[in-house]
Amino acid sequence: MSKVIDGKHVSTIIRERIKKETADILANTGKKPMLAVIIVGEDPASLSYVRSKKKFAAEVGFDSETIQLPDTATEADILAHIDTFNQNPAVSGILVQLPLPKHIDEQKVISTIAVEKDVDGFHPEQVGGLSIGLNTLEPCTPAGIIELLHHYDIPVSGKHAVVIGRSNIVGKPIASLLLRLNATVTITHSRTAHLADITRQADILIVAIGKPHFLTADMVKTGAVVIDVGINRTEGGKLVGDVDDEGVFEKAAYLTPVPGGVGPMTIAMLLANTLKAFKRQSFA
Ligand code: NDP
Repeated sequence: MSKVIDGKHVSTIIRERIKKETADILANTGKKPMLAVIIVGEDPASLSYVRSKKKFAAEVGFDSETIQLPDTATEADILAHIDTFNQNPAVSGILVQLPLPKHIDEQKVISTIAVEKDVDGFHPEQVGGLSIGLNTLEPCTPAGIIELLHHYDIPVSGKHAVVIGRSNIVGKPIASLLLRLNATVTITHSRTAHLADITRQADILIVAIGKPHFLTADMVKTGAVVIDVGINRTEGGKLVGDVDDEGVFEKAAYLTPVPGGVGPMTIAMLLANTLKAFKRQSFA
């Protein structure tokens, strides 16, 4: 039977730490971090993520500003707002909520954000830096997963980590971070043959595909650590992960719940990146 990895609890500890450090910096320097957010369109999930990010930014003592654009906004509109934030020394971090409407070139938008303010860690320069082991602003969800493994003293070095999913925001960067921690990493995806044969070899299994209850107990080795990144809404409106949690719970050593596992860590790491970016810009 698994131990539950409580992301809600760990994220609270991280946010408390950020809040204290922010208050100390403010008391000593009169300065505080500021997070600028751009959201395009009315996607309910994106709006809800942005509301949470603003709420938690305020809670730890950051300033924040949100620009909300209609889904008819042009690429030039978005780039102009990014440019204004890039030039504004009071802005420590810039986040463009993804996904963007289809007529916008997402990579161009991401690449326009000043590297030092790219708190999502998606800029090509940061992606390259991550893969060669530089001290970058790491993508928030993968960084949050690593924090969870550390918090629960789960050994990574020498372990076989299998990642299901190869997206730029989760699969590839978590593979880089696990490799840096000396795991032996296998990345799998929708064309992977004999997936279950590979997942059954995993000591650490990261599932990030966006398919409700995809990973079943027969795909998991007894005693594995299973990290469920998926966020899926059922027809009844319930949030479920990519892992068939009831079955897998009996077999795994550790399992992250959905909700309350990886999700809260993503926001905590966004705040951590904003503070890190602020300190580099203000005091480096
Ligand atoms: P993407 O849709 O960008 O990528 C999905 C990946 O899953 C692709 O690499 C795809 O393979 C792979 N895949 C799809 N079907 C299968 C299959 N049957 N077998 C093996 N691999 C498969 O998703 P994201 O990485 O953006 O997100 C994944 C999930 O994580 C979503 O539910 C998302 O909502 C959630 N998420 C949660 C976050 C959090 O904070 N908790 C943050 C970010 C995402 P291929 O490349 O071959 O198409």
